[in-house]
Amino acid sequence: MNVFIEPIAKLINKFSSLPGVGSKTAQRYAYKVISMSEEEAEEFAEAIISAKRKVHYCAECGNFTDEDVCEICKNRSKEIICVVKEPKDVLALEKADRFNGVYHVLHGTINPIEGVGPNDIRIKELLARISDGVTKEVIMATNPDVEGEATAMYIAKLIKPLGIKVTRIAHGVAVGQDIEYADIGSLTRALSDRREL
Ligand SMILES: [Zn+2]
Repeated sequence: MNVFIEPIAKLINKFSSLPGVGSKTAQRYAYKVISMSEEEAEEFAEAIISAKRKVHYCAECGNFTDEDVCEICKNRSKEIICVVKEPKDVLALEKADRFNGVYHVLHGTINPIEGVGPNDIRIKELLARISDGVTKEVIMATNPDVEGEATAMYIAKLIKPLGIKVTRIAHGVAVGQDIEYADIGSLTRALSDRREL
């Protein structure tokens, strides 16, 4: 027999599906929700639904935005494009505060074992963006793991013949460490010590 009545069990199940939330924490969250006033609970649920409805990919860079084109793409020079795997990486690099160009979010990296090929990530969109003649440099800031390196090399091969400089962030970010977890100093160094591919 389940010790939780069905509506609470369902809530615990939903919270457990979040990253980093174990069953104990999920139970605490569920009981917290139950103890909320009806108004608080509605605001909580509404925040989830509203974020889900309003947030989509920026038409240019693929980062999350609630407008057609995000604030970064609207306001910055497009001469340098920094290519990352996920929206979380943009956040990490923005905290490092060293970069004034725009981003391109791939939403994945090439990973043959998991069946992710070049056409499954936003490479076509990147090539379309750099065809405008404005781009002078593309920085490959994918994670320093096997997939990240392979993706950086693959994209570099496509872009270099177009006469655009392609660089790779330096190993200020330790091998195997995801960009999103790197500290600000490491990211700043990784960007400033980037090398040409
Ligand atoms: Zn954008």
